[in-house]
Amino acid sequence: MSDTKKVRVRFAPSPTGGLHLGGVRTALFNYLFARKHKGDFVLRIEDTDQNRYVEGAEQYIIDCLTWCGLTPDEGPHAGGPFAPYRQSERKENYRQYAEQLVRDGYAYYAFDTPEELEAQRQQTPNFRYGHGNRNFLRNSINLSETEVNSLLGQKTPHVIRIKMPADETLSFQDLIRGSVSFDTNLVDDKVLLKADGMPTYHLAVVVDDYLMKITHAFRGEEWLPSAPVHILLWAYLGWKKDMPEWVHLPLILKPDGNGKLSKRDGDRLGFPVYAMNWKDPKTGDLTKGFREMGYLPEAFVNMLALLGWNDGTEQEIFTMDELIEKFSIERVSKAGAKFDFEKAKWFNHEYIKKSSLSNLKPAILTILNGRGLSVPDDDYFDKVLALVQDRLTFLQDFWDQSSFFFEQPKEYDLNAVKPKWTEDKTEYFNVLISQYANMKTWTAIELETLFKQLAEEKSIKIGELMLPFRIMLVGGKFGPAVFDIAALLGQGETIKRIEKALVEFNS
Ligand code: GLU
Repeated sequence: MSDTKKVRVRFAPSPTGGLHLGGVRTALFNYLFARKHKGDFVLRIEDTDQNRYVEGAEQYIIDCLTWCGLTPDEGPHAGGPFAPYRQSERKENYRQYAEQLVRDGYAYYAFDTPEELEAQRQQTPNFRYGHGNRNFLRNSINLSETEVNSLLGQKTPHVIRIKMPADETLSFQDLIRGSVSFDTNLVDDKVLLKADGMPTYHLAVVVDDYLMKITHAFRGEEWLPSAPVHILLWAYLGWKKDMPEWVHLPLILKPDGNGKLSKRDGDRLGFPVYAMNWKDPKTGDLTKGFREMGYLPEAFVNMLALLGWNDGTEQEIFTMDELIEKFSIERVSKAGAKFDFEKAKWFNHEYIKKSSLSNLKPAILTILNGRGLSVPDDDYFDKVLALVQDRLTFLQDFWDQSSFFFEQPKEYDLNAVKPKWTEDKTEYFNVLISQYANMKTWTAIELETLFKQLAEEKSIKIGELMLPFRIMLVGGKFGPAVFDIAALLGQGETIKRIEKALVEFNS
C-alpha cells in the first residue's frame, strides 16, 4: 500500500442472525484502526446468500454498532460515495467480472445440475470439484466451444467456477500472521457466480473491496482458508497492486477447552455471546445479549479490545480515545483469546463503579420498568444508586442490591439471628428505638455513635448487634454499610423496621 492512500476499512457482516461478540470485536478493530489513521470505516452488508438471509438482522447489526459507539462512516444506513452498501443491491456489478475471468481462462462455466453433483458425491467420498476431476465434468473446460455456446444460448442454468491451479504454493503476507502459504491442490474450484446470477461471497468480497478502495481487510481467522481464493482473484482480475493488507484476527475461544466460542457455549455456561438480545423471527427463540444483561457499552468495548490485543503494559482499562491512540496491529496476537466471563464481569463492575449517576440512571430505570417495578426518579433514587453503585456487577443487580430502600423486607434471615437472640438484645433495641426517636438530626455517624454507646452501656458486644440490625433493615446479610442504610431510610422508617423485626425475632 502506498503511503498516500487513505485508510479505508470495512466491517462486512452477513445478516444471518445475532451478532456474536467476535463480530463486534472485528468491527471494533476496524473502527480503532480507521480512527487512528483518520480513515474511513465502512459497513457493508454481505447478503448474497439469500438462503441464509434473516429479516431484521441488518438493523440489529446497526443497532449493536450504535450501542457500542462504533458508528460507521459509510453504510446502508448512512449512504456514502460507494453506495449501495448492500451486496444484493450491487448484483449487476459482479457478472462482468466473472465473465472477464472466464474470458481470461481463470474461470469456467459449469453446467452440472444439482442432481449430477449429488450423484458424484455419492460415488466419490470427499468429492471436490477441482483440478482432479474438472476435465471430466459438464463444464466449459471439458465441453466443446459449440456445445458451450449452445448451452449458454439456451439459457441452461450454470455457475461460474474459479479454475484453481494445480501443484502450486500460494503465499501472501498477513499483518498478524506474517507469511501464510497454501497448497492450491487442497482448494476446490469455488463457485464465483451462482445460477441465479448472484455472486458468492468469494467473488463479491473481492470485487467490493476493490471497488470500495478498501486498504486493510480485517476479519476473523475462520476466513483464512478462503484467503487463497481471494488472493488469486485479486491477481486474476488484474488488481494485485490494489489488494488490501490482510489482517486475520485471532479466534475468540471457549473458556473451557479448545475451539471457537459458540452461542451454544454461552447457553451451556450461562453467559451471553451476542451483543444484544436477538429474537429469531422464524422460531421466536430469544438469545440473550450483553446489553440486556446490564452490561455497559464502554465496558463491553474495553473487554473486547483486550481479547487478542494489549498495549504491552499491564493496563486493562482504556477509554475509547485511549484505545484509538494505542491500538496497533503489531500488538494483536496470533493465538486465540480465551473468553473469560469472570473477567468480563470484572470489566463491567469497574465501569459501573466509575460511571456517573446520569450515565447509569436511564438504563437502570429502563430495566426496572421492564420488570414492572416503579421507583421514583428523584433525589432519593440518586442517593440509593450512589450507595449501591460499587456493588453492581451488572445494572440488573440494582434491584437485588437495593429493593429494601423502596420496600420493607418481605422476609428475614432468621437463621442468622435466632440462635443467638436474647432478652438483652430485645431490651437493647427497645432502648435504641427510644433514643433514635429523640434524635434531632439523622446522620450515619450520629446513628453509629449512639448505637455503640448503648452497646457499651449494656455490655453487649457490638458485633452481636450489627448483624441483627442489618437484618432488621434489609432482611438479609447484604447491602452497604448499615448506618448508611439507616441514614438514608430515614428516622421514621428505620424505627418502624426495628419494631417490626423485633416482633419476628421474638416470635
Ligand atoms: N461476510 C463475511 C462475514 O460474514 C465477511 C468476511 C470478510 O470480512 O471477508 O463475516
